Amino acid sequence: MKDLSRNIELNCPICANDQFEYDSELESTTYKCSDCGKEFTKDELLEANEYKINANLEDVKQEALMEIEKELKKIFKKSK
Ligand SMILES: [Zn+2]
Repeated sequence: MKDLSRNIELNCPICANDQFEYDSELESTTYKCSDCGKEFTKDELLEANEYKINANLEDVKQEALMEIEKELKKIFKKSK
């Protein structure tokens, strides 16, 4: 998860773990925390990490969300 932590790190809102398991084959995959096992949709994860997005980039939240989208796509590719 080096690429992601370089920009905005997504953490599990339950246990703050930053490693997630997901099915890269599925468009609407859920992200399962590798630590506590709780599953989240991408939207839920983004929402849970919104405070970081705001802290990092203040009022350019939309831009930050697009960055996360890009990072997630990179992860999708790597997971193959
Ligand atoms: Zn967790």
